[in-house]
Parts: sequence; structure tokens; C-alpha cells
Amino acid sequence: MDPYALLGVSRDATQDEIKRAYRKRARQLHPDANPGDSAAEEQFKQVTHAYELVGDPERRRRFDQFGDGGSNSGGGGQDPFGFGDIFGAFFGGDSFGGRRGGPQRAPDAEAILDLDLSEAAFGITRRVEIELMTACADCEGSGCAPGTHPSTCSDCGGAGEVRQVRRSILGQIVTAAPCQRCSGLGNIVPSPCTHCSGVGVVRGTRTLEVEVPPGIDSGQRLRLTGRGPSAPRGGPNGDLYVTIRVRSHATLRRDGYDLIQVCRIPMTSAALGTHLTITTLDGDIEIEVPPGTQHGSVFRERGRGIPVLQGRGRGDLLVQVDVAIPQRLSDEESDVLRRFAEMRGEEVTSVDEHGFFSRLRSAFQ
Ligand SMILES: [Zn+2]
Ligand SMILES: [Zn+2]
Repeated sequence: MDPYALLGVSRDATQDEIKRAYRKRARQLHPDANPGDSAAEEQFKQVTHAYELVGDPERRRRFDQFGDGGSNSGGGGQDPFGFGDIFGAFFGGDSFGGRRGGPQRAPDAEAILDLDLSEAAFGITRRVEIELMTACADCEGSGCAPGTHPSTCSDCGGAGEVRQVRRSILGQIVTAAPCQRCSGLGNIVPSPCTHCSGVGVVRGTRTLEVEVPPGIDSGQRLRLTGRGPSAPRGGPNGDLYVTIRVRSHATLRRDGYDLIQVCRIPMTSAALGTHLTITTLDGDIEIEVPPGTQHGSVFRERGRGIPVLQGRGRGDLLVQVDVAIPQRLSDEESDVLRRFAEMRGEEVTSVDEHGFFSRLRSAFQ
């Protein structure tokens, strides 16, 4: 959904202009002014939602950058590829009012950008090639053969739509439909460009630089205003939405703005203490595991996590220690452990290979 189009303002309108446009539209469409008109009620809701998105400067900034999905970007990880709302918004509905003659705005397009964890964390400018409808080079997007110009459609007089008035028992009913002759564009190309058959756009490849802000997470979308497909016959470009997908990291897992790393250490290291070398996004660091560390203990390295998207500071790195209990002990190792248990006055109940219990407390006496 494009709140600017719904409100009938340009993308660089001031907050004041947006407010005035909303008040005007809301007055026209308000349910009290249109009792029983469900279409007006639906439009009223859409216009109100549009105003919610761009009526406040902070929310508007988010919307301009991230589209509809960015307005509720909280922690990371939500909205895993919730494309539903986007597809609904741009491929389904061309139905919002204000369809006038003349070049129409191109639909929006969507692309996916795969990033490594550190690229998502620190941000990156990535050059991407994307296949889009682009303006025809031969006719510069006009659709007209060289030296010719479009002429006003005679069926609709350039309005792009044809109105019909019918009388019924309920009174006059006015219906408007897109003009068939000019496909709603309001003009006709008398001698079409041969390269694009008069459409003004051809399928092509465009190279774009996508600036990814630090802290972005999988499923979040960037909105590249006006950098989407070109429109037939010189209409405004659509937007390009870039959905971010972050590849999983070998050792680090993201949780909001924190990073989690699980380290497995032998039980002897847990008991005696040790140093661990941890790979972080900033390079390797060493952390100290004190003697007597328990299974599941978590060590927090402040500020070694993900930078906060559009904010300050970074999350933390949480190093979780898993204590590995040795398996398949040799006879000698078992003896040492039994003696160790004995020294500590711990009762040892063994299970032999046939599954029988035997008490060994006195075996060494
Ligand atoms: Zn052309
Ligand atoms: Zn027409």
C-alpha cells in the first residue's frame, strides 16, 4: 500500500500538507457522511491507516526506509518472510480511488538479499543485479516511434476512464471503468516504437546499490523508493522492496541484538578452570572460565553483540558453557574416577555391562 497515493500527496510533501490532505479525505469518506456506503467506509479505513504510517515524522521516516513492515520493527527475528501483506498490496489492489488519465505508476517489486551475519550486523553497501521492467532505450520510455508523439484518446478525452450514468429505482448510478481503448492511460500511441511495441518498457537488468543499515535481521525489508520497475509510457517508477535473509553462522546464533555461542568443555576444565578462545564478530577474544563452573553457566561479554538498528549501542555476546561428561572410559580412567569419588566421600554405584548394579564402595579397601 502506498500511503502517499492514498492521501493524494507527493512523497516529498510536508507534514502539514499530509495532515491537511488527510483531514480533507477523511471528511469526504467519513462513515457519518456516507451512511451505508461500505466502499467509502473501506476507503476511510485505508486513508486512516495511511495517515498512521506517514502522519508522524518518526513513523514516516521508518516507513520510507522499511515500508509497511518496518513500522513495528522491534527486536530481531520476527516476521520471517511475511510476504503476504506486500503481495496483497501491490499485485492485488489497483482499486484505490484517484485513478486518473495519464501515465500510471509502475507496480512495486520485491527482491531478496542474502547476507552474512557480520554484514547484517555492521551494515554493507551491496551492488545487486535485478531483472526489472526498464524504460525502453529506443523511445526513452514514451512508446512512440522516433519523431512521433502520443495523441489524446478520443474515447475518454484523456481522462483514462469512461463514466456511465444509469437510472435505477434507487436513482442515478454513476459507474466509472478504465477506458478500453487507451487502457486507462488517456493517450494513444499512433505509431508504436518497434522495440517495445509501444509499451515504453522492456524487460532488462538493472544494477542497484543497496545500502543495508547495521543491525538488520532476517525477514526485515528495505524500501528503495522509486527504484523499482519503470512504468509504461513514462509513468513514475514503482518501489523496490528488498527482503533481508541472513545466512546462519558457524558458531554464533542471534537472539534479538544478543549473540549466543555454546561452548562445550570437558568436565575437568569446568572443575579446574580454563581459558577459552571465542570467535566474535570483532575477531577472537579470550574468556576465563573459573574453577567450579557449572553446566549451563552463561558468561556475558558486554557490547560484543549486534549493533542496534537505527539506534545506539550493541547487544551482548552470551557464552554458554556445556560441560561434556566423558564417555567410554578405559579401565584406568574408571579407576581414577572411582578413587576421586572415594576421596570426596561420594558413594559410587556402578552399572556393569549386563545392567546389574554393584556396590563398589569397599572394593578398594
Ligand atoms: Zn520503445
Ligand atoms: Zn481512453
